[in-house]
Amino acid sequence: MNKYKKLYMEIWNERPHVCAVCGEPIPSPVVHNFSHIYTKGAHPALKMVKANIQLWCSSVTRKEGRGCHELWSVQPHKFWIRAKQHGWEKPSVSEILELETEEV
Ligand SMILES: [Zn+2]
Repeated sequence: MNKYKKLYMEIWNERPHVCAVCGEPIPSPVVHNFSHIYTKGAHPALKMVKANIQLWCSSVTRKEGRGCHELWSVQPHKFWIRAKQHGWEKPSVSEILELETEEV
């Protein structure tokens, strides 16, 4: 099991199985359902930080429409309409680092 898969399984076991953005149920821990808020490329220091990774619905598991994960990368304006409807806000890097410290 690679290091991401191990981290993803820990997250799966610790959190409710719903999309952190819209609340859509997530039936199984498919890799597409784990989203880095800050990308590995732009923020390599956050790539293994759990607070930077959220369970998001994806088109792979969603019954209808595009998942939050795809909207985020392909149609960000639609993502933000949905996020605002559900009250999801993007945490800042410092908020993520604070959350991570609390978890330890
Ligand atoms: Zn969603």
